[in-house]
Amino acid sequence: MDTSTSKFWPSHELPALPYSESALSPVISERTVSFHYGKHHRGYVDELNRLIAGTAFAGLSLEQIIASADKTINASIYNNAAQIWNHSFYWNSLAPSAGGVVPAELKKLIDSSFGDIQTLKKQFTGAALKQFGSGWVWLIHVGSTLKVITTSNADTPLTSHSKPLLVIDLWEHSYYLDYQNLRADYVNAVFDKLINWSFAVDNLQNIV
Ligand code: MN
Repeated sequence: MDTSTSKFWPSHELPALPYSESALSPVISERTVSFHYGKHHRGYVDELNRLIAGTAFAGLSLEQIIASADKTINASIYNNAAQIWNHSFYWNSLAPSAGGVVPAELKKLIDSSFGDIQTLKKQFTGAALKQFGSGWVWLIHVGSTLKVITTSNADTPLTSHSKPLLVIDLWEHSYYLDYQNLRADYVNAVFDKLINWSFAVDNLQNIV
């Protein structure tokens, strides 16, 4: 195999899960995480490395690929790169026994943007249900306010003028083994019991 064009940049790697595969159970089962992380997330990494070998993308970071790959001409490269990034962000948006009390600085911003946390949750679940087919529901920081948005398939707000704070995966592979077709039950349970508010605060602090 000719790896000459990529010898200065290592292959993209599957980032380690920030917890064990059983740590999100019973909200998200070990079986779901095992398939989702071990098969789907890993599959995007393997496929991206295969697609970019010998191309101009071989020397680029994941973020550079997402920003520069044309969504039509380089659709597979863009989709696999964006899916790697989105999934790494998703695993960090969750934490075992999380949810609950929102840190004060984030709560202040949630209150000024949505009114209160329950209204945010309602918007989050509502947007998740309206998303037709596969995609993602995000809490983003844009301007001086927070917003709930959804993206389709592999699309990511990474390249827009907004900063993602949290995401929940809405692809059926993220919930079907545990919740079958009940997407709202999955989103509500994740929001209440797994959402990693500390990660959102970290992302907020990285905003300049
Ligand atoms: Mn997924």
